[in-house]
Amino acid sequence: MTPATAHPAAPRLPDTAALRARASSALRRCGARDLDTYADAAATGPTLPARTPLTGAALGHLPATTPGQAEAALAEAHRTFLTWRTVPAPVRGALVKRLGELLTAHQEDLADLVTIEAGKIRSEALGEVREMIDICDFAVGLSRQLYGRTIAGERPGHRLSETWHPLGVAGVISAFNFPVAVWSWNTAVALVCGDPVVWKPSELTPLTALACTALLARAAADTGAPAGVHHLLLGGREFGEMLADDPRVALVSATGSVRMGRQVAPRVAARFGRCLLELGGNNAAVVTPSADLDLTVRGIVFAAAGTAGQRCTTLRRLIVHEDVAEPLIERIVHAYGQLPLGDPFDAATLVGPLVDTAAGTAMAEALAAAQRDGGKLLAGGDRCLAAEAPEAAYVRPALVRMPAQTEIVRTETFAPILYVLTYRTLDEAIALHNGVPQGLSSSIFTRDQREAERFLAPDGSDCGIANVNIGTSGAEIGGAFGGEKETGGGRESGSDAWRAYMRRATNTVNYSADLPLAQGVNFL
Ligand code: NAD
Repeated sequence: MTPATAHPAAPRLPDTAALRARASSALRRCGARDLDTYADAAATGPTLPARTPLTGAALGHLPATTPGQAEAALAEAHRTFLTWRTVPAPVRGALVKRLGELLTAHQEDLADLVTIEAGKIRSEALGEVREMIDICDFAVGLSRQLYGRTIAGERPGHRLSETWHPLGVAGVISAFNFPVAVWSWNTAVALVCGDPVVWKPSELTPLTALACTALLARAAADTGAPAGVHHLLLGGREFGEMLADDPRVALVSATGSVRMGRQVAPRVAARFGRCLLELGGNNAAVVTPSADLDLTVRGIVFAAAGTAGQRCTTLRRLIVHEDVAEPLIERIVHAYGQLPLGDPFDAATLVGPLVDTAAGTAMAEALAAAQRDGGKLLAGGDRCLAAEAPEAAYVRPALVRMPAQTEIVRTETFAPILYVLTYRTLDEAIALHNGVPQGLSSSIFTRDQREAERFLAPDGSDCGIANVNIGTSGAEIGGAFGGEKETGGGRESGSDAWRAYMRRATNTVNYSADLPLAQGVNFL
């Protein structure tokens, strides 16, 4: 099934005991406990395993949150809101400023934990932590810029304006693949907006959650902020469901699969709560005949194979003009053959493991379905290092040429599979591009300004993110992040995404001695 490609030799994998020791040291330095201490605490009550995708082995057991503790956390978060909302926003910003300083001091520790738990290569793990520091900077600035508008009113002697107030407790449900960045996008912004946070991280990444929680607790202590501004619920989806159902949680910000969003959104809607959904993507790049192929190949390979295909913005579909399909495919196959795969701590590695063997199975099943649909595997798709780490899933990024955009191509498989489709006209390319249920990120590679502008126009890409001459992944924090259709419509991080964390009040002040009614209505 695998085409012959010359791959660099696979390096040795780290052993689980060394990873366990490294995780314990990082946790301790961040102010959390080490794995032995957690194991002792987990001897009674519910537990949650901590695993590493590097070897697939368990690193230890952690004490999970009990239902009683979760209820107490929600009650305290709500009590804290009642005072935190009256703290001036720039003072709330001081807490986030301190958090940013602590994240900076502990970026290596957090990056270690991200690699150990999520399997990211070193530079991507450090990049994820950098993103946390950047959003803290952004939120500190924001704490002095929560602007409302003054509006031209129709009545003399009246002033019409809007003010923004803290919303309430923000419940944050996060996915395994950005275990710390997504928390920080939500938490840094929610805290300056005056909202305490209750966090339910992925059950696959509890160690990073413990480290972030310890750092924020330290920031709160250092700045005199109440400890109740942040709570961690360690456990399964039942805590996500609790956040969805509880009316004390004003905003549920949920990041994960479309399946999860389908379950969470109706529950929050049933109580008229506010939902911010950041769900799956099925991102595509259009490559036109005028594209700079060197730049295009680099952009494509990072977007498709980076993070082992486990970003919501991973490039999953390549829509390439017939005239350049052959040379482009040839270059991508060559580049895929050069990708070093293995231990993500090794500086030479570019592709680490999938999160677990279930993800490896899902990838194999998707490739089999694509081949049943007439797809031709052009590169990768094979499992590696199975003898060294049978419980882990190291896979080579796959490139599959498809005769049509079949159901499997329209489905997000959270693994490195890039489907190649060809087109003749730009209209046809855009129709293929938009012909999927998801709408997160998109790119066009072209040197033709007309094509670029058409892609960004109202009848171009239907995604929340539309790029020109860069790949679909690797967004900066300054822009609003999120997507349309089944991606959920939410926006997080920069721009005016903060508004989701606040409530708007429209104020009309009459400073005259008369009482004119709007629209000229006469009464009394
Ligand atoms: P997942 O949906 O399995 O889990 C995400 C979180 O939701 C976890 O914390 C999980 O415990 C919780 N959860 C699951 N079912 C729930 C329910 N019924 N009620 C409440 N909570 C529930 O996703 P994952 O495998 O951890 O992450 C991968 C997925 O996340 C991919 O689809 C990816 O595209 C998506 N993702 C999207 C973004 C984005 O910003 N759009 C970012 C990262 C990941």
